[in-house]
This record gives sequence, structure tokens and C-alpha cells, in this order.
Amino acid sequence: MIIDGHTRTCGLLGNPVEHTLSPVIHNTLAEKFSHNLVYVPFLVEEGQALAAIKGAYDLHILGLNVTVPFKSAVLPGLVEMDPMAEQIGAVNTLVRTEGGFRGYNTDMPGLYRAMAGEGIKLAGEEVILLGAGGAARAVAFLCAAKGVSRVYLLNRSLEKANAVAEEVNEKSGRKLVAPMALSDYPSLPDRKYLAIQATSVGLFPHTDHAVIEEEAFYDKIHTGYDLIYKPSETKFMKLVRKHGGKAYHGLKMLLYQGIIAYELWNEVAVPEETAQEVYGILREKAGI
Ligand code: NAP
Repeated sequence: MIIDGHTRTCGLLGNPVEHTLSPVIHNTLAEKFSHNLVYVPFLVEEGQALAAIKGAYDLHILGLNVTVPFKSAVLPGLVEMDPMAEQIGAVNTLVRTEGGFRGYNTDMPGLYRAMAGEGIKLAGEEVILLGAGGAARAVAFLCAAKGVSRVYLLNRSLEKANAVAEEVNEKSGRKLVAPMALSDYPSLPDRKYLAIQATSVGLFPHTDHAVIEEEAFYDKIHTGYDLIYKPSETKFMKLVRKHGGKAYHGLKMLLYQGIIAYELWNEVAVPEETAQEVYGILREKAGI
């Protein structure tokens, strides 16, 4: 592309940012749409997130993604919040509006679009959610928004599981989330579940671990969705498949959270065919 006086800039705020795949998504989309837009990573020091978004606005940056550790830290610097992001209490996408940035969480609609593309439905499902960190918390809100009938939230720290359950149940106005310790899985009602793996266990380079190692757990799963995409087959996924279930990694979630952000910044709809082309390039870059 030719960078000139009309080039618009988007970017990623985070720390670290060196390994991000987001520039692949956005610069490929800009090329496909012939948009005069460039997407770059911005390394921000801890404590500087608010200064960074103020500076970005003053520099006329069109849009930003926000990643670890700033997804909640930037909230006081926003002029508006999308209702879903407000509920979750974390944003990953900032859109330039009159007077400042509006915050969105495209991770969750991204996960939803990725799951829908694989034929995985949430409405009416009973879900096992592994983890109670930032990602799991957001997934619990997604489950509430999409009509999941029950979420069994299993986490190493029961205290954190309790806190997420209490918050989601209160905000959704129903007793949706049941918190449990990981070791309590044998007491789950005897049926098959959709399991969403939202812990960091199994992430490269610690690929020979799963958050629950006991094989009996995997007899309870008809579909396993791991938010991790490196490696492309986690131990969790291997165990799900070994016990007859279908298993997916999280690269399509990454793809669609990026696509939804790009759509918001540029007010376009990305056709599915284009999304698949970007996915091909993303897979190549991710080595999957
Ligand atoms: P986080 O806030 O740090 O939460 C980590 C979670 O993992 C907590 O539930 C923690 O349990 C659990 N955990 C960590 N080590 C454990 C261990 N040794 N044994 C049992 N549980 C352990 O992280 P996050 O931001 O939620 O991210 C979670 C995962 O999702 C990461 O792997 C991340 O790469 C992935 N992710 C993927 C995408 C995507 O686009 N595909 C987007 C967001 C996140 P405790 O509460 O007990 O500490």
C-alpha cells in the first residue's frame, strides 16, 4: 500500500504486543477493501493506558484494539460504552466518536460468530465453563445474553468462581451460573455438555497440560471449545476427541473479534468469503 496524507491509522494497545496477529487481520482487510488504512501495534507502559488513548484521540487515530493488561484500565478514559461491554466491564475495541472513544467488547460476539460458524448453538444449552478469569467472565455474560439454560462454572479458585457467578446472576436477573471447584466435576448431572475452555492451562509452551486431566471428565462432553489457539490442538481438545466429542481451537474467535472491530471502524460488512480468505492467511502466520 502507499502511505500518504490521507492514510488513517488503527492499532493495538497492549503490553506485550510483539506476538500479536491483529496486524495480519486488519492490514489484510484494508488491502481487500482498498481502504487507505494502516494497523500497527503500540507498546504501552503499565499505568499509561489513559494517556495513550488521549494521545491517540488527539492524533486522530480511527480505532484501537486493547489487549492485556489494559482491557479494564482504559474504561475511565472512554466517552461511551456499548451495553455488552459495560456489563462485562472490559473492552477490546475503541471506536472514534465525537469527543472521544466508544468502547466495545468484540471478543464475545467474535466467539459467538466463530461457534455459530461451526454449528455450535448456545440457546437452551447446558454449558460447562472452565475458568473464572477475564475471558471466562465475559463468556459467562455471553451465555446469559444468548439464552444458555445453565452454566456450570468450574475454576481452580472457588472464590473467583463464586464472585463471577454472583455478578452474572445478579446482572442477568436469573440463577444461571453455578460455581464449582474443578475437583467437583463428578457431581455434574449425568448428561453431555458443551464445554468452553477459558483457562490459560495448555497454552504454548505448556502444551502437555489440561485444566482437568482425569479422563472421566471428558465422557461428559459432546463439544469442546478451547479459547487457546496455540497449539492448534490443545491437550483439552485431544481428550475431548479421544472420548468421542468434537473439539475446536480459538483462532476463529480471534479472527471474528478482529473482523467485527474492522466493521465498526470502517462501517462496512465483511463478507464471509473475505473472512475465510483472511482466516487462511491468519492460519499461515499462526503456523496452524
Ligand atoms: P486470566 O484472566 O489470567 O485467567 C486465567 C484462568 O486460568 C483463571 O481461571 C485461572 O484460575 C486459570 N488457571 C491458570 N493457571 C491454572 C492452573 N495451573 N490450574 C488451574 N487453573 C489455572 O486469563 P484470560 O484473559 O481469562 O485468558 C484465558 C485464556 O483465554 C488464555 O489462554 C488466552 O490466551 C485465551 N484467550 C483467547 C482469546 C481468543 O481470541 N482466542 C481471547 C481472549 C483470551 P484461578 O482463577 O484459580 O487463578
